[in-house]
Amino acid sequence: MLEVKNLSVSYGAIEAVKDISFTVNDGEIVSLIGANGAGKTTTLHTITGLVPAKSGSVMYNGVDLLKTHSNKIVTLGMAHIPEGRHVFTRMGVEENLEMGAFSLKDQSDIKKDLDMVYGLFPRLKERRNQKAGTLSGGEQQMLAMGRALMSHPKTILMDEPSMGLSPKLVKEIFSIIRKLHEQGITVLLVEQNAKMALSIADRAYVLETGRITMEGDAKELLNNEQVRKAYLGA
Ligand code: ATP
Repeated sequence: MLEVKNLSVSYGAIEAVKDISFTVNDGEIVSLIGANGAGKTTTLHTITGLVPAKSGSVMYNGVDLLKTHSNKIVTLGMAHIPEGRHVFTRMGVEENLEMGAFSLKDQSDIKKDLDMVYGLFPRLKERRNQKAGTLSGGEQQMLAMGRALMSHPKTILMDEPSMGLSPKLVKEIFSIIRKLHEQGITVLLVEQNAKMALSIADRAYVLETGRITMEGDAKELLNNEQVRKAYLGA
């Protein structure tokens, strides 16, 4: 279980996240939605130790993540798929995937995990020797997800997986997120695409200029008048 309590984060004088609290229970998909600049990315970066918190706490299965180094957080079973994907562009697809398996020494285990990832993303298998930088945006998103899966995460934090993708690819990516969830992976999903994010989630939180302004059952939020007006163009 991930428990964020009274978290505040500042960049100098800019208060990006203001006293937010939320939880993600094991096996859930929880979405964090909000407009540009609401503080979604900052929240994920703080959870995985890329940005320091000003105050508050982030506990993951009893471990204080604010006192844990980013590299160690992966070994606790938490994988972060950042916005913009950040694949190693000059390396091949398979080499990128192997980079995700750093904690596994055994070659046969790595081979098994590659097969698991190629099973989920046949397109990556077809392109296993292609340089990652020449993949399409959707394929790079698949690669970023595949690389995260190589570390056998229990929890995945995903930042805007739909960004820059065609509606068809967005559907494809979301159906993979559903599959991962069915396999028991917990997901914290940050999205501007509120419709997709609320459709897939169990629960959701709305972030507005650094504060949580609404929270609840995702299907209820999908039908909430205020949410529909502000985020669903209704
Ligand atoms: P988007 O959907 O556009 O990515 P977001 O909800 O993820 O937005 P953040 O990227 O977390 O929002 O940004 C929250 C606020 O913090 C914004 O006002 C942003 O300009 C500011 N901010 C983010 N990163 C930095 C930084 N490194 N230095 C200074 N200000 C920053």
